[in-house]
Amino acid sequence: MEKIYLKDEKETRGIGYRLGKLLNKGNVVCLIGDLGAGKTTITKSIANALDVHDYITSPTFTIVNEYEGRLPLYHFDVYRISSSEEMYEIGFEEYIYGQGVCIIEWANLIEDILPDNYLKVELNYKEEGREMILTPFGSEYEKIVEELLK
Ligand code: ADP
Ligand code: MG
Repeated sequence: MEKIYLKDEKETRGIGYRLGKLLNKGNVVCLIGDLGAGKTTITKSIANALDVHDYITSPTFTIVNEYEGRLPLYHFDVYRISSSEEMYEIGFEEYIYGQGVCIIEWANLIEDILPDNYLKVELNYKEEGREMILTPFGSEYEKIVEELLK
């Protein structure tokens, strides 16, 4: 577990971009944090780093939005999900074991169905900025965090 203080939005975007550059096909990034913590901000920067040129908006009503980039990007926002069953109905497993990068906002709400390996990114309000807590599950994600902190 690594903690990083992000003093402003620019720093949030910076770390998101660098994280995006380190992601590979099949990676899953779980974003956890209150409303306004910066989950969508990070997602936009990751999308930038993946050469996604479309404008990213939170898929609040659709659960998942798909984008073309260096790798396909699957952006989930599961805030309105009522049970994990709904995730299976939209084909969650094909996404997470697929060829793209999955980013899941509010992933704590579907913790029971997350894969064994993923990168957990928590964002908390702290002073004027945000605290980011990175917890890698699996050696691939440990390496990504190591690279990110270099
Ligand atoms: P979420 O998707 O978690 O609800 P958003 O990314 O939509 O959050 O919004 C985050 C808000 O916080 C934006 O207004 C952004 O400018 C701001 N923000 C992002 N990172 C920081 C930071 N490190 N310090 C202060 N404000 C930030
Ligand atoms: Mg959001």
